[in-house]
Amino acid sequence: MFKSIEMAPADPILGLSEAFKADTNADKINLGVGVYKDEAGATPVLKCIKSAEAKLVDTETTKGYLPIDGNPAYGQAVRELLFGSNSEIVASARAATSHTPGGTGALRVAGEFIKNVLGVKSIWLSDPSWANHAAVFGAVGLEVKKYPYFDKASNGLDFQGMIEGLKSVGKGEVVLLHGCCHNPTGVDPTVEQWEKIASVVAERGGLPLVDFAYQGFGVGLEEDAAGLRAVAAKNKELLVCSSFSKNFGLYNERVGAFTVVAEDAEAVKKAQSQVKTLIRRIYSNPPAHGGAAVATVLADDALTKQWHDELAEMRERIAKMRQLFVDELNQRGVKLSDAGNQFIVDQCGMFSFSGLTKEQVDVLKKEHSIYIVGSGRINVAGISEKNVGKLCDAIAVVAG
Ligand code: PMP
Repeated sequence: MFKSIEMAPADPILGLSEAFKADTNADKINLGVGVYKDEAGATPVLKCIKSAEAKLVDTETTKGYLPIDGNPAYGQAVRELLFGSNSEIVASARAATSHTPGGTGALRVAGEFIKNVLGVKSIWLSDPSWANHAAVFGAVGLEVKKYPYFDKASNGLDFQGMIEGLKSVGKGEVVLLHGCCHNPTGVDPTVEQWEKIASVVAERGGLPLVDFAYQGFGVGLEEDAAGLRAVAAKNKELLVCSSFSKNFGLYNERVGAFTVVAEDAEAVKKAQSQVKTLIRRIYSNPPAHGGAAVATVLADDALTKQWHDELAEMRERIAKMRQLFVDELNQRGVKLSDAGNQFIVDQCGMFSFSGLTKEQVDVLKKEHSIYIVGSGRINVAGISEKNVGKLCDAIAVVAG
């Protein structure tokens, strides 16, 4: 039976990492996969995590299973980060959190919940969205619909188009919103625009699902939660899929969370019982280590402060690289849009939709060993003071 199986196509982003690894050019540059890199091109373990891990090694007494939805202290810490420690949602216990294997695991559990518990048949995604969104929701049998998001002409948000699109959402349909640092465009709504988005979804009777994979990578931990909190203020019921892969650098520990917010504590208890049933038959219960490290950091004031500092350092380095990239492009007279390159500085988070075409991206890879996703999405964290000159020289050749 296996002989007739055909080769699956490589994942468009992870496949790029494999091609990068195989490239023998010493000056190769990887701007593909969304992983933070420091000036030296490394993705180090955060110091706060190293300290938490040392504590865990000393104090851990068992490798027994966690509860199906994970350690309650982890869930509480997640909810406080999402909604604020003094929020009404946290105080009234009308949210329940499951520790999931990464943000992707949270999205899969969300998909199962939407399809099999709520009986909803479709989900709306931004156009464009992270490619895995359509794959994950398609895999659970949800129909994927799209609302306009990106305005190619301005390299900014097509806010009018987005609102018009959201007005077509049917009652009970799910609307996925990127909480901050939109992947792949780097374009986020303003707080005022979030208010309107939240109202339109509520008026249509849609169920918001906020995918929150980059809290703290945009402006700051609290500021980046403004959109989510605006949505929660206008929609009594919502779903949140969050991830600590980026903001804690815990990519391979698979530390995410699925949070259900209901109208009251009684309703959320019932919803959570269904979530636990779903999880039991997918992966039974979550891996412990990464979640325990996060909970250890967040239970300790000094380690939390250290985390805030390390997160700020990552965020500020990315912002600095955006500016440097634009300065170097400008020096070479390269314009990635008719209006120039400023849009790259204005974008938020790890990614920039550069405006480079698929053909230009192909030439950059083949002739310059520069790896960028086919859509032109650049991982700005992959830029450094050392490689920016070579990068911009090559872009000047293909797009100048
Ligand atoms: N959502 C978005 C928008 C993402 O960019 C990512 C990570 N690339 C995820 C979810 C998944 O995160 P994780 O690596 O924790 O599964």
